[in-house]
Parts: sequence; C-alpha cells; structure tokens
Amino acid sequence: CGIVGYIGHRQAYPVVLKGLKRLEYRGYDSAGVALINNNKLNIYKKQGKVSNLEEYVIGKDLDGQIAIGHTRWATHGEPSDRNSHPHLSASGQFAMIHNGIIENYAPLKAELINKGYEFKSDTDTEVLLNFIEDIKINNNSTLEEALRIALKRIVGAYCILLIDQEDPTTILAARKGSPLVIGIGKGEHFLASDATPIIEYTKEVVYVNDYQIAIVRADELVLKNLGNEVETPFITKLDME
Ligand code: GLU
Repeated sequence: CGIVGYIGHRQAYPVVLKGLKRLEYRGYDSAGVALINNNKLNIYKKQGKVSNLEEYVIGKDLDGQIAIGHTRWATHGEPSDRNSHPHLSASGQFAMIHNGIIENYAPLKAELINKGYEFKSDTDTEVLLNFIEDIKINNNSTLEEALRIALKRIVGAYCILLIDQEDPTTILAARKGSPLVIGIGKGEHFLASDATPIIEYTKEVVYVNDYQIAIVRADELVLKNLGNEVETPFITKLDME
C-alpha cells in the first residue's frame, strides 16, 4: 500500500508511475492513477501489478502536470478494478486515494445512501470521498473546508490525496496514522508514503504530522491543523545514501 503525488512543471504520469514502482516492496494488490489535463480528470486503475496498469494505459491520455497514484492493499472490498483507487466522487469532480481504514464508514455510508448517493465500489474510501463532497455541497464551502469538517467526523487511519478537476493547481493531502512525506523541489512538489520515490528529485522533505492538512501547489506548500491554523513546515534533509 502506497501513495504518490506530483504537482509541478513536469509531465506528472512518469513521475508518479516510477514512484509506484519504488513503493512496490510494501506489498499491494492493485494500482491506479488520476491525472488532470485541461480540466479533465482521467482515472486509470487495474487489479494486479503496476506493470498491468502500464499496459492498460497504452494509447490513453496521460498528459498533465498534476497526478496522484496508489497501490492498494484491500481492506474493504475484494481486490478488483472497481475497488482500486483512485475513486471518483458522485459528481465526477473529485478524485481521491487513501491508505488506511475508515472505521466508522458503515453509518456514514448508510446516511449517504439515504440521501440518494450510489456507490461504485465496496470501499471505505469512496464513502469518505462522497462524505466530503456532500459536506461541500451542503455547506457551500471550499473543498479544503469540507475536507477539514469530514476529517473531524471520521474515526480511523488515513493518508489521503484529493484533487479537483476544476482546480488543477492544487493537491490536498491529509494524514493520521498512515505516513506522508512531501518533497520540496523548484516549482514542484512530490508526495509519497515514504521518501524512496522522492529522493532522486530532492533531498528536502517535510514529514506531515497526524491531523495536518497539506495544501500543495507547484510553488507553495501550506500546512494547517484541523482548526484551520497554519503550521510551519519542518524541513528535513534526506541522507545522500
Ligand atoms: N481501506 C482502503 C481500501 O480497502 C485502502 C486500503 C489501502 O490502504 O491500500 O480500499
């Protein structure tokens, strides 16, 4: 189980795919990526090895300077293409990847089904994503605000990356229990479950803390706590070896 993200001036797909390969050692059963190209969200995901995904995407639109990628270790829902990440929100506007477990997903899912939501997967992840979207719609709030409210109401462990096809300038990230490292480049940022996918691009990293939200843009990294207060990132230098 691993997550990778990229935002910056490069083509994002090759960076994210290489990162997923670097995380293969952690073990997984499926892999997937989401990219935004000209305000269009493209999601490709497959059960099996990262190499399956690579074959599957041949000839597809892989353009874009923002991408998130995932290797899944199934906890809720069998390994399958459908249950693979990234997941798409009910409206089709947002894509999310998640490592971890949302323990109170069942009552949230029941609540959302009552409101008319339909689910395309059996995952706890899709429940969290639609829960965020539902809060955003009801409160008429920003995605960041909706994410913050949702995270205060869930129980469990997570590292998530969330993107909005109407805002290709931003990756929202958050963690509790599952690790998240952000690599700081020149006009670019790299996100991953550990530093192995990042080290070839930059030695400057920030280890995101539990209950922090990261607002990540090509040339800006903002960390906030769940009370919406900005927190100063602590930059660590990675060892050369
Ligand atoms: N609980 C999620 C799922 O089953 C994420 C699993 C993971 O950490 O890869 O899809």
